[in-house]
This record gives sequence, C-alpha cells and structure tokens, in this order.
Amino acid sequence: MPGDMTLSDMRELLATHHVKSLTGERAEIFCLRAHGMEVGALMAHFCKSESGIRHDLQLMQTAVFGALGVESDPYLSGLWLAMHATCCAADVIAATQTVAIFAA
Ligand SMILES: [Zn+2]
Repeated sequence: MPGDMTLSDMRELLATHHVKSLTGERAEIFCLRAHGMEVGALMAHFCKSESGIRHDLQLMQTAVFGALGVESDPYLSGLWLAMHATCCAADVIAATQTVAIFAA
C-alpha cells in the first residue's frame, strides 16, 4: 500500500472502485457482517461452519480489493459497502433487509 496515501486519497480510491453488482449468499454474508452480525449468528442463519463463513468473507474481500492494490481489511470492507450502498451493494442490501442481524 503506498505510504504517501492520504485519507482523502483512500476515500477517493474506495468511492470510485465499483465492482459488478454483488448478489448471492456470499455477498449477503459480507453485507450482514459489515452491519454487525456476528460470525456465530451468520453460521446459524446460513447453516454453515465457522470456516465456511470466514472463507466467504475472505473471498469477498479479495473480490472487492484484489484489483485495488490495497490490503483487504474488514474495516475497509465496511466502509466500501457504505460508499456503494446505492450502486454495487444496492441489490444485496435489498435482499437482506429483513434479516434479524442480532437474533440469538
Ligand atoms: Zn459502486
């Protein structure tokens, strides 16, 4: 990651980095995790193992950040999702509207 990148540079980079519209279960896991749903709750909701959930999250981070030359990071993933709520992430946000993210 370039050492001379400013916060402004990073925001510009993330905001202008559009990807193919996110859809499908893996994207839903990525979206819900970014909204605070814990891995354990994701495991129960999707009937998947912890390693399966973590694998999906890693693949999504790689898909979003792989082309940027920026190290993928969960915080950046959340920021990117928020910036792309009306474009790339609009479909997956719509698809997960009614999931109870803090259900036991
Ligand atoms: Zn976008």
